[in-house]
Amino acid sequence: MASLELKALRKEFDGGSIVAVDDLELFIEDGEFVTVVGPSGCGKSTTLRMIAGLERPTSGRIHIGGNDITDVHARHRDVAMVFQNYALYPHKTIQQNMAFGLRMSTDMSAEKREQRVYEAAEMMGIEDLLDDTPGELSGGQKQRVALGRAIVREPDVFLFDEPLSNLDAKLRTTMRTEIQRLQEELGITSVYVTHDQEEAMTMGDRIVILNDGKLQQTGKPTEVYQNPTNQFVAGFVGSPSMNFIDIEATPIDSGVRLTGADGAFSYHLTSGRTDTFGDISGTYVLGIRPEHVVVSEDGGEDAVPATVDVVEPIGSDNYLYLDLGTESRSFDTEDAPDFIARVPADIEPEVGDLIHISFEESSVHLFDTETGEAVTAADEPTVTAPQ
Ligand code: ATP
Repeated sequence: MASLELKALRKEFDGGSIVAVDDLELFIEDGEFVTVVGPSGCGKSTTLRMIAGLERPTSGRIHIGGNDITDVHARHRDVAMVFQNYALYPHKTIQQNMAFGLRMSTDMSAEKREQRVYEAAEMMGIEDLLDDTPGELSGGQKQRVALGRAIVREPDVFLFDEPLSNLDAKLRTTMRTEIQRLQEELGITSVYVTHDQEEAMTMGDRIVILNDGKLQQTGKPTEVYQNPTNQFVAGFVGSPSMNFIDIEATPIDSGVRLTGADGAFSYHLTSGRTDTFGDISGTYVLGIRPEHVVVSEDGGEDAVPATVDVVEPIGSDNYLYLDLGTESRSFDTEDAPDFIARVPADIEPEVGDLIHISFEESSVHLFDTETGEAVTAADEPTVTAPQ
């Protein structure tokens, strides 16, 4: 077991015209479980492949347990990788598949190898499948074998590259728990790549968000959810995504008035709240999470009128797709909806109904229109967590 450190890690392709990983700095503690998430093409797999030794960095260094392993051959790195497509040898038995890595990278006796494979197979609940070949196994069983094969190596670092994407939703949930249990039990430093922000949020001790090869933010899942550092992270983490509205902030006696959506949106931020943002005036992007929107029929002070475009029941809750203002602009156009509210299932307005939305001012996020950075008072801690 060991820590993992990426120092200004960079990977360019096609003579530098593609920067897949852009000077990534990351320190992962011994035994930590870190999930790496970001949209397709953001550099997740390339990062993992460089750690595994399958891709040579353009520049930067990789340290495991304090040792620089950047130039060490993949076979001699104490790293085990689990892939989405299992990567099992079809003609070898499960026993042979699981023992293969040990045979290649150690001089362990056959007897000892067999014992290690059996122990790992027991851990994954596949000890009865050792004489089968991969073709006889279901997707879930194959992924257990792939995990078992990684465990057998007793590596310093586990690397997971979207290992559950080929499984159905139910099995995925079971395997998530299984991987977490295993990681806790073995305490092996783990990097888990996924494009699924929910998976990243539920599994990681810490989440790393990448975009365009660049590190956007890293922190505990709740920290990242509550205090996104920029508009990209705010929109990427959480489902449905955070609502964004272009607004104008005008200082008034008792705080700041925020207006937008062609006059449909008007909201008073009190001085208490504006203190955490600092001096604000001019244009910003306002962010509100769908789950922090409160819907009422009549509204009250500062409630914003909205017209219901679509009601989407998801069982426990309803998603309301809304047009801000008193008129529906019809959601069947190509326009994205103005606003989504996640409300309890017993709130079931009809399409076309006029309702009112409001929210606690503690749940308001503001972002710089140009840079997308979260607005916070200089030298102040970041925005208070929404309730
Ligand atoms: P996905 O979620 O779709 O797997 P990713 O975040 O894992 O995406 P990478 O596969 O790391 O992204 O790719 C990062 C960028 O590098 C992309 O623009 C990709 O097209 C490019 N890239 C990756 N491998 C190569 C290669 N061998 N040659 C050229 N470009 C590459």
